[in-house]
Amino acid sequence: MLTKVLIANRGEIALRILRACKELGIKTVAVHSTADRDLKHVKLADEAVCIGPASSTDSYLNIPAIISAAEVTHADAIHPGYGFLAERADFAEQIENSGFTFIGPTADVIRLMGDKVSAIEAMKEAGVPTVPGSDGPVPKDEAQCKTIAQRIGYPVIIKAAAGGGGRGMRVVHNEAELMSSIEVTQTEAKSAFGDGTVYMEKFLTNPRHVEIQVISDGQGSAIHLGDRDCSLQRRHQKVLEEAPAPGIDEEARAKVQAACVKACIDINYRGAGTFEFLYEAGHFYFIEMNTRVQVEHPVSEMVTGVDIIKEQLLVASGQPLSISQDQIVISGHAFECRINAEDSKTFMPSPGRITQFHPPGGLGVRWDSHIYSGYSVPPYYDSMIGKLITFAPSRAEALARMNSALDELVVAGIKTNVDLQKELVNDEGFKKGGVNIHYLEHKLAEEQ
Ligand code: ADP
Repeated sequence: MLTKVLIANRGEIALRILRACKELGIKTVAVHSTADRDLKHVKLADEAVCIGPASSTDSYLNIPAIISAAEVTHADAIHPGYGFLAERADFAEQIENSGFTFIGPTADVIRLMGDKVSAIEAMKEAGVPTVPGSDGPVPKDEAQCKTIAQRIGYPVIIKAAAGGGGRGMRVVHNEAELMSSIEVTQTEAKSAFGDGTVYMEKFLTNPRHVEIQVISDGQGSAIHLGDRDCSLQRRHQKVLEEAPAPGIDEEARAKVQAACVKACIDINYRGAGTFEFLYEAGHFYFIEMNTRVQVEHPVSEMVTGVDIIKEQLLVASGQPLSISQDQIVISGHAFECRINAEDSKTFMPSPGRITQFHPPGGLGVRWDSHIYSGYSVPPYYDSMIGKLITFAPSRAEALARMNSALDELVVAGIKTNVDLQKELVNDEGFKKGGVNIHYLEHKLAEEQ
């Protein structure tokens, strides 16, 4: 078993990882920027090392500083959390080359999945359903491009192979726009990601975002923990998630879950991961894989009873998974509201000192957060300050519980998006279940 884990992250996920380590008797090292000395997990960790100034480029993204911290504290493994360096193959590689364990897949697998063209190819080989598309980068020849787009059928979407964070994509509605759109996306991709490779896909008009959580031991065993619906998004950022995804065709679900498990084994995947799909008219279409733990992992934990971070630690220790697929039963329903330090209407970040804080509680209520009364939310990082999760036997009960928990939550001194979350859990369309990825943006536009 691992004996000491360095947590290369901050905020709620750093605390979440610390909790799992403690339960397993693993010592922890917190690394932090000068702006983050007062983070809750920094106080709770066995050791803490300041790795640089507030700017994340000089601290949480500073690979040599993180590896030095692991060396001086004699940690044996590094957990990247999500964001920052979590999906950087060079980080995983440098960690392993320095003699530490990277808690995640190998650098080669991160690279394979980080390039969307190679990821789609690997998924097709494993039998995972993908979006009809160019099957590789778009060709140079104009006539060939037009033929591909005609075969797929307009509208199509041009996407950067190295894209991420919802950037490097362009929808094309007709042939007249095709070539110029390809060129613009190539130029943008080159300057944003250093790689101008683009590919073409059918643009699905009203899909839902449904994703499958997997854990794989890298030794031939893999399991899935069911699915999540993350369709409520603003600017490609998820706002409110749930598990399981409501109203999914059971046959399509079983097939895609089995295909994801097979894909993990085929690519020799190690650790926790998520296969992201668009779901439309009863069909799943793979769009990308996230090779790390995700923000919304708690909803899957609630409906399966599996501690995903603990499984990551077990697998990284070279141990088998603690559970097998036939032991996993999806039971009940869970929601997660992301609580951000931002204005509920304008979405302007609202850093500053939290003067008063009361978390909600009660049966089936979970609060994953690092904040406390007197804590100052720094202006330098992501604005998420906590995740409110509710769990109940049915979807309606879990939603009612969320409504009540949001009423109980008090975060004074800064602005939060609690009002928006309240509105969403009481929205008639959302209450029915199964809204598409444009639902929230349309709702916000109407309110404007
Ligand atoms: P990123 O890595 O930037 O998040 P994704 O491939 O996951 O890129 O796509 C991000 C979002 O873009 C999706 O959640 C969806 O809203 C939209 N999108 C991507 N591909 C398609 C497509 N083929 N049809 C419709 N929407 C798409």
